[in-house]
Amino acid sequence: MASDTRTISVCKIAGVQVDIDLSWLVIFALILWSLSEGYFPALYPGHRLIAYWVVGLAATLMFFGSVLIHELCHAAVGNLKGEKIDRITLFIFGGMAHMGGEPQSASDEIVIAGVGPLASLALALLFWLLYKAAAMVPAASLWTAVFRYLGAINLALALFNLLPGFPLDGGRLFRAILWKRSGDMEQATARAADWGAALAWGMMIFGAIEIFGGALIGGLWLIFIGLFLRSAAIGEYRGTIVSHLLHNILVGDIMTRDPVALPADISVAEAVDGFFLRYGYGGFPVIAEGRPIGTLSLSDVRNCPPENRAATKVSEVMRPIDAAIEISPQASAMDAVHKMNATNSGRLLVIGDGKLEGLLTRTAVTRFMQVRAQLEASRPPAPA
Ligand SMILES: [Zn+2]
Repeated sequence: MASDTRTISVCKIAGVQVDIDLSWLVIFALILWSLSEGYFPALYPGHRLIAYWVVGLAATLMFFGSVLIHELCHAAVGNLKGEKIDRITLFIFGGMAHMGGEPQSASDEIVIAGVGPLASLALALLFWLLYKAAAMVPAASLWTAVFRYLGAINLALALFNLLPGFPLDGGRLFRAILWKRSGDMEQATARAADWGAALAWGMMIFGAIEIFGGALIGGLWLIFIGLFLRSAAIGEYRGTIVSHLLHNILVGDIMTRDPVALPADISVAEAVDGFFLRYGYGGFPVIAEGRPIGTLSLSDVRNCPPENRAATKVSEVMRPIDAAIEISPQASAMDAVHKMNATNSGRLLVIGDGKLEGLLTRTAVTRFMQVRAQLEASRPPAPA
């Protein structure tokens, strides 16, 4: 989905933009603190406090690097398979690769989803070997602790991501298997997302039990991850269905042609009586000398006090046209949805060669998807 205010961009690796969700900063501090003040001193006592913080920082950074490698593996294989993954976002318990579209086939999905946990398992093995090697050098005892921790955490990362709830990697693998069997990707996604939501609830309930048992931090942690997983399952499922229903559809296919447009030089009061009340729409394109120059919505009208509406022109209170509310008729409908979500606007002006060709509203997109979904539901089930 589009980037939002909760993420910060860190760097670009091999053409893939790496973003960090703000939750990561909190987690970073928590892990650093618990390793430096609790885990390392308890396991390997007898060092100075500063030494614990140094290895604590090294271990936290390497943990961060491990998650990054896991996600970059998804992105690299996805790009090889023609997925166009150009951004990854690191979250509390791992990351998320942003797919340009849905995977082409179940077999592609198996490889793309599977490579992440495999990378984490490989890292777990690597750190375990380093741990065994460091254990033979007496002076390296604190580094022994770091490698031991990283081996364990990478193993945990692999196992957690293999849980069969969509959109975790295990859930994607589960979906791919169902999809391969039935040939119905939408159904498979629905089933896998149900499992994702069930898994999330399980975590939250288990977290609550932990809290009553006295393990406050561990319990809160589970509830936090459960909440996150639940919203990810719902969000990814919706995204999948939307991109499936809008597959191969262009803006020009579903826009309203020759929409009713407001002249820029009439008053707001005239626009209310002659257009809003007459047609019942929530907004109109505004034109001047035959060219589109903006949009006027009900909320723009509301921002103009009733006593001023007779003396105020439409052009003074409209939203002037800019890249955020304009789209080409050849753009994909999915791009239009991304644009509406990113700019939080319910209507886009469809403009070709500087002329207003049509209007695309969120309502029209939704209606189109509803009709298509109903048509698909009535077709006979696909042969296995
Ligand atoms: Zn993964």
